[in-house]
Amino acid sequence: MLWRTHFLASAAAGLLLAGHTDAKTAALSAGVAGIAALLPDVDSPDSKIGRMIPVIPRLFKTVVGHRGALHSAIGVAAVFILAALFLGWRAHIPKMHYLILAGYLSHLVMDSFNPQGVPWLWPYGKRFGLPLVQTGSLLERFVVMPGMVLLVAWFGITKLWLWFPTIKAVFSKILKGGIL
Ligand SMILES: [Zn+2]
Repeated sequence: MLWRTHFLASAAAGLLLAGHTDAKTAALSAGVAGIAALLPDVDSPDSKIGRMIPVIPRLFKTVVGHRGALHSAIGVAAVFILAALFLGWRAHIPKMHYLILAGYLSHLVMDSFNPQGVPWLWPYGKRFGLPLVQTGSLLERFVVMPGMVLLVAWFGITKLWLWFPTIKAVFSKILKGGIL
């Protein structure tokens, strides 16, 4: 899948996980999950995230291969444990390590819909998946990706009523000249 599809699918998951919360936390949750969804492709120097980081993607590709260990249950567990150890307790954003888990996991689930499949049981080499969507295909660009945009918009809009009092307060301040 393209990185945008991964990002959007996980941002939707992040919004869902954020639950009933303020607009800032919801947006941050969506962002954290969306970025976590790019992490498995650190094993490819040609991926979006692989092009942003020097050396490491090339190392991963050489040692474990693209769609190798990082695209497996062991990869999910390792990233979750690291996130819980190093980020969980900081709690700038609630459920930080769960957001990372959701983002990472959603990448593997989405990749499972590619013909290449995902080696969920790595180091056992068999790849599992349903060959439904080719990466970068018209189906992904014009059906799956817009579907994810709608999902993010829907989850965002359904939260708007929660934020309504904040929005109203800001507008009344602006009208009274309190802000501008
Ligand atoms: Zn991938």
